[in-house]
Amino acid sequence: MLQENINITPFTTFGVEVSSRYFATFSSIEELRKLLAEVKDQQLLVLGGGSNMLFRKDYEGITIKNEITGISVIEENEESVLLKVGAGEVWHNFVLYSIEHNLGGIENLSLIPGSVGASPMQNIGAYGVEIKDVFDSLEAIEIATGELHTFSHQDCQFGYRESVFKKELKGKYIIVSVSYKLSKQPKLNTSYGAINSELATRGITQPSIKDVSDVVIAIRQSKLPDPKEIGNAGSFFKNPVIPKSHYIALQKTYENIPSYPVSKDTVKVPAGWLIDNAGWKGKTIGEYGVHKNQALVLVNYGKANGNDIFQLSEDIIADIYKRYQIKLEREVNIIA
Ligand SMILES: Cc1cc2nc3c(=O)[nH]c(=O)nc-3n(C[C@H](O)[C@H](O)[C@H](O)COP(=O)(O)OP(=O)(O)OC[C@H]3O[C@@H](n4cnc5c(N)ncnc54)[C@H](O)[C@@H]3O)c2cc1C
Repeated sequence: MLQENINITPFTTFGVEVSSRYFATFSSIEELRKLLAEVKDQQLLVLGGGSNMLFRKDYEGITIKNEITGISVIEENEESVLLKVGAGEVWHNFVLYSIEHNLGGIENLSLIPGSVGASPMQNIGAYGVEIKDVFDSLEAIEIATGELHTFSHQDCQFGYRESVFKKELKGKYIIVSVSYKLSKQPKLNTSYGAINSELATRGITQPSIKDVSDVVIAIRQSKLPDPKEIGNAGSFFKNPVIPKSHYIALQKTYENIPSYPVSKDTVKVPAGWLIDNAGWKGKTIGEYGVHKNQALVLVNYGKANGNDIFQLSEDIIADIYKRYQIKLEREVNIIA
């Protein structure tokens, strides 16, 4: 059922006031197909948890919110379990399910906001783990035909905060379920960030997946602004990958510029460092700005306008280019 002129601000995390010309929810493939037949060829936006979006203005098209839930076991052996999860499940609830059932693989991805269906969109990642490490396949409805298609790992073309659904297939499919292979004999990955030191502080020498999840949650809560208190969409920019020769040239001016190896000829530079070093961290313009502890996170302190926040991101991109000749790319989806 299409509703008209609906305020969709509560379904997003940036806190920017926005309404959608039309709005509907769907909780099954049948409902989705019916909806697609009704709105054929009109401007359409799929909404999960709205935690990776910035609306520049009210949305003139039809927003459809995915509420397909359910977690089921597809296959199981001594080593692993294959689970099919409804795309409308809250991602962190799925992480909690995995911990409750002692299934390893996604504990480092605890507390990432949003839905299961959006997890493959940008190959969500945190603390040295990405969704592609446990991804098996997904099912999606083609918007033009209503047909159900299965996409393998290879089909999804995962990259750093990338997949085929943000490139060639952008706006063409609606993901309805995702299948993940989780391990019954988890191999923990605690080397990234402050996980090891936080485990040591807690006196934990043989951590369980729950211990790792608890520590990741505590670290995230201490570092990232909670969208319920300060509107944001997590990291606004991706970490740029640049040629090694460019990095070596930058080191002449910026001795402390950090980097992580990517390939023989390229390195990844933390965008947060570039923005911080350029003096943007903590900058506040009226109701919005750059977070005081996390230069990668743009924030809405109250009633900021989406277009103003977008303009701030443009100014940062231009300044970073001028200083370091590096073109930052946005991680957040801009809805014009
Ligand atoms: C505080 C905070 C911390 C964050 N930390 C991280 C982090 O550590 N790592 C990380 O990777 N991300 C992080 N993010 C970003 C965000 O959590 C992820 O990108 C998440 O996957 C978005 O899910 P969502 O359901 O909210 O997507 P939405 O914002 O609703 O949608 C994102 C995009 O996916 C599309 N989409 C959504 N669902 C579907 C579907 N079923 N089918 C087709 N298209 C769909 C939308 O149209 C849109 O283009 C963070 C965000 C916040 C606010």
